[in-house]
Amino acid sequence: MKKISTLLLLGLVTLNLSAQKMTKDKKAVVASVEKHKENLIKISDSIWALAETAFEESISAELLADYAEKNGMTVTRGVANIPTAFIATYGSGSPVISVLGEFDALPGLSQNTVPTKDPRFEGEPGHGCGHNMFGAASLGAAIAIKEQIEAGTIKGTVKFFGTPAEEKYFGKVWMVEAGLWDDVDVNVSWHPAAEIEADVQTGLALVDFMVEFYGQAAHASADPWNGRSASDALELYTTGINYYREHIRPTSRIHYHIQDGGQVVNVVPDYSRLWVRVRDPKREVLLPTFERVKAMAEGAAIMANVEYKYSLISGIYETLVNREGGKIMQNNLELLGPITYTAEEETYGKAIQEATGKPQVGMDGAVHPLKETEALPGGGSTDVGDVSWNVPNINLGVTVAPKDTPWHSWAVVACGGMSIGHKGMIYASKAMGMTMLDLFEDPKLVEKVKAEYKTRKGDVKYEAMIDGLPPIPGK
Ligand SMILES: [Zn+2]
Repeated sequence: MKKISTLLLLGLVTLNLSAQKMTKDKKAVVASVEKHKENLIKISDSIWALAETAFEESISAELLADYAEKNGMTVTRGVANIPTAFIATYGSGSPVISVLGEFDALPGLSQNTVPTKDPRFEGEPGHGCGHNMFGAASLGAAIAIKEQIEAGTIKGTVKFFGTPAEEKYFGKVWMVEAGLWDDVDVNVSWHPAAEIEADVQTGLALVDFMVEFYGQAAHASADPWNGRSASDALELYTTGINYYREHIRPTSRIHYHIQDGGQVVNVVPDYSRLWVRVRDPKREVLLPTFERVKAMAEGAAIMANVEYKYSLISGIYETLVNREGGKIMQNNLELLGPITYTAEEETYGKAIQEATGKPQVGMDGAVHPLKETEALPGGGSTDVGDVSWNVPNINLGVTVAPKDTPWHSWAVVACGGMSIGHKGMIYASKAMGMTMLDLFEDPKLVEKVKAEYKTRKGDVKYEAMIDGLPPIPGK
């Protein structure tokens, strides 16, 4: 009896906390997302099927820009010298609240909506990071806010940033460099995930660069003494990198991709090319490691008696977290509650887990509590990091794939084009819309978020780690 009354009491308390905060205005935001749901799913599925990659996402970008325009937002295309980058705006004055939308795919991950590996088009790209849902959900949130401004419920400006090439070139870095967030008070973003959480953990900073070696071609057997091998230099360089791995911080990562190691076996190669990436959660640890890896290219060139060229591709900052913002998002996640799945969706999730060698526990639709901000960061990197050093950023993760799904894999593509992905996407749209609404309605929240941003940023002066114009294919 006593047990029952305690449980009843706990139930009532929970109910009360939720009931008192799901305001009429928030219900209106949720209703707006529901109204656009079918169209948002259509856009997401079209982007999923198109699977356009870095700086070539012209139809995907246009699908989003066009829907923003049809819904009364003003669209500026081709910002920051990037044809597929755009801004959709509505309203005037402050606060200015923005939301990020990505839409680029990854090479080689084409997949049908079935829970075992089955490419739609062998070797073609696929949305292995769920960015088809990313852009559509964020646009849904922006339009929901636009409708509240239009109705006179709130005042201010909403901006949707169409941000291309997150996967390969980190397109946002050029957009930040162009000052596109200079007038924004707070930015909101999300990322497809395998659990629901207001994301208050940082990502890894990184530097990306290319090293090219130039030697002298010769017959590999008849007169090899006349040759100076660019591929020898490449091998010596990667050997140096691999010896160095023992001495880097456990948090750091070095990756390389051999792009050109010579063409045939009977020619001493006069050209080789290597793409190198160095990462760490802290830029102050990353930078000296990067300088050392960069310097080794010269050592390799000396040993092989060849010339070398170093070119910076780009670099990104670790994400500056905002816990005050995370709390606002967390409150809205608790208001929305968990995502529930049908028996078919659970079976689909378990089949993916079976196919990828994971425990068959199915979907995780629960709302997770706020994590410790200063705990170890997630393993990935994102150009949202650069945005977060220029404007306070609130981040969200929402389930679009079963627990433990290998990311950047066919399994994410398999979920992103069917109901599991659709549910997560619509949920993210509502959570971001509600959080943006809070910022419009309560200037004190904006001040709190800004104050934390200022403290965390300290006296760091942001300098974009890029060198020149964005590498648009064909330009
Ligand atoms: Zn991603």
